[in-house]
Amino acid sequence: MTHPVTDLIHHPYVAPSGFDAPQPAVHKASTVFFPSVAAMRSREWKDKSAYTYGLHGTPTTYALEERLSTLEGGRQCILVPSGLAALATVAMSLLKTGDAMLIPDNVYSPNKALAEGELAAWGISHQTYNPMDPGDLESKISPATRLVWVEAAGSVTLEFPDLVALVQICKRKKVLVALDNTWGAGLAFAPFDLLPTIQPGLGVDISAHALTKYPSGGGDVLMGSVTTRDQDLHLRLKLTHMRLGLGVGANDAELILRALPSMDLRYRAHDEVTRALAQWCQGQTEFVQVLHPALEDSPGHRHWRALCKNGAGGAAGLFSVVLDARFNRDQVDAFCDALQLFRLGYSWGGPISLVVPYDLTSMRKQWPVHLQRGTVVRFAVGLEAFEDLRQDISQALQALH
Ligand SMILES: *Cc1c(COP(=O)(O)O)cnc(C)c1O
Repeated sequence: MTHPVTDLIHHPYVAPSGFDAPQPAVHKASTVFFPSVAAMRSREWKDKSAYTYGLHGTPTTYALEERLSTLEGGRQCILVPSGLAALATVAMSLLKTGDAMLIPDNVYSPNKALAEGELAAWGISHQTYNPMDPGDLESKISPATRLVWVEAAGSVTLEFPDLVALVQICKRKKVLVALDNTWGAGLAFAPFDLLPTIQPGLGVDISAHALTKYPSGGGDVLMGSVTTRDQDLHLRLKLTHMRLGLGVGANDAELILRALPSMDLRYRAHDEVTRALAQWCQGQTEFVQVLHPALEDSPGHRHWRALCKNGAGGAAGLFSVVLDARFNRDQVDAFCDALQLFRLGYSWGGPISLVVPYDLTSMRKQWPVHLQRGTVVRFAVGLEAFEDLRQDISQALQALH
């Protein structure tokens, strides 16, 4: 007879198998049991054929990885605790002392901070290139270049590059190209198949995605993914990921699994209202420029149209305005503070609209030639009704005067 205390731990009851319900189960584990020492010695986690340790994956994380691979058109996927961790995992897996990395001028700022901080300290150099000039990228690729980052659209200023041309240059120069695919989210365009009818299979080598944004959709989860199509490349990333001890919580994985089925609908809803608001903003004299890839005079519009199926692929929920240079910082701050529905906050992809004023002069080496002078304010549109958001911007404009 065992003591009831022990019975509570080694309980004989086993629930019947075959439970079936809409949502995948949430499996939590650090420890994973083996039936025998032989099983312990022989199990392989790298190809997801078995389980060995919580950090190496559970049915919950395997299921999420497979769904994200499908979303992006990849074959393998790794989960990390944030979008930024996805960018860092790529750099740390692929670069060593003496190597060089290229990032676009309008890169997601924390990626640049990583390059200027840890990567520089480890003897890995970086340069920025003009994403709107493929020739500039080509001329900056040296024999030391091991990784090129691309973003479509670019962060904050939303220029849409000729992604096909940038990727073709990297292929020709035999340099790995990684996309920060948070904006496209696997819905606007297919990162691993940019020209499906003309050149099937032409695509990036790696897609890093901040699941924090659209896959979560709630503004309440931080997670990232690194998706690939090449098994050897995946293993390089996966082994670094394992050695760094990066894992994600089962409850967070559950939230993303729950939100994925509605992601396409949400993306389209954000997109529709964003386009309407961006168009309306074009008619306001306080804004000297509106940046949104679907607007005809926005930088790179034709590249967006060509890649994103003439607009049917989508254009996400971000747009920026350039406020006339005659407004000083206090006036711009007052405009942002006066907004009621647009809340001040970073990140995006959730139901609540957000606004952030940016000091572009501190972020870019020089003022981009295609941008009017002024202050850039970025809006991330949530799921509220168009007319309410339009009125909110309209009333806040009074604070400028
Ligand atoms: C938000 C974001 C990230 C980082 O995601 P976190 O989960 O917040 O670390 C990376 N790239 C882009 C383009 C983003 O918008």
